[in-house]
Amino acid sequence: MDPKLSALIELQSVLSTQREIEREYEEIPRRREQILSYIQSLKAEAKTAEEQFKKHEVEQKTREMELQEGQSMRVKKEAQLLSLKTNKEYQATLSEIEALDRKNSRLEEKIIELMDLVEKERTILKDKQKELTEKETEFHRELEGLIEREKSLSERVEKAGAEVKLVLNKVDKNLYRRFLRVFDRKQGVAIAIANGGHCGACNIRLTARLIQLAKRGQDIVICEGCSRFLYWDHSLDDDQPVSL
Ligand SMILES: [Zn+2]
Repeated sequence: MDPKLSALIELQSVLSTQREIEREYEEIPRRREQILSYIQSLKAEAKTAEEQFKKHEVEQKTREMELQEGQSMRVKKEAQLLSLKTNKEYQATLSEIEALDRKNSRLEEKIIELMDLVEKERTILKDKQKELTEKETEFHRELEGLIEREKSLSERVEKAGAEVKLVLNKVDKNLYRRFLRVFDRKQGVAIAIANGGHCGACNIRLTARLIQLAKRGQDIVICEGCSRFLYWDHSLDDDQPVSL
């Protein structure tokens, strides 16, 4: 096989490895960002739950005080009844007492509603706080793991870069530029096998001339369908169709 071609096959392999490691490496800050914003949103949820709970707890206390006032007012009015002189005054105070009763009973209903609500919101708040604590512990562990992973990946990125450099010494510069264009445009596959008479990547039927050239392996052969570099693997049967 033409050393130019075998260098390209090697390049394909080390470049793929390099890109894969780089992708993993670049994924880390994204994951970190995701974790931090998730924790933020959990904190915000816990804060909202706490605000709701406190607001209704305060409202419950206010209503309870109003009810207490209403009840002592009723006691006062009832005592007044005994000292009233005219029937008119008596009737007027009696209707005041009835109005107070209606108001007090509305307050009692409202207080019962609020007590239910406050209990529910207390449970929600506890759950939210528990979830936050648990997730914070879990994410803290993951964040620590990410630091380790970032360190090891950064070493691997460097190593992969060095390997690519080493292979690049064997590749013609113009060929490399062409290769890289195809590699980037064709999802990281710049080389395709020609065994079977079809391009192993785009599956187009190759002309007899291209097949012959690929078999000879002395020139760079480009697929007319997808522009990938073609090669013939002589370790396989001639007619065995292969796809990468
Ligand atoms: Zn092709």
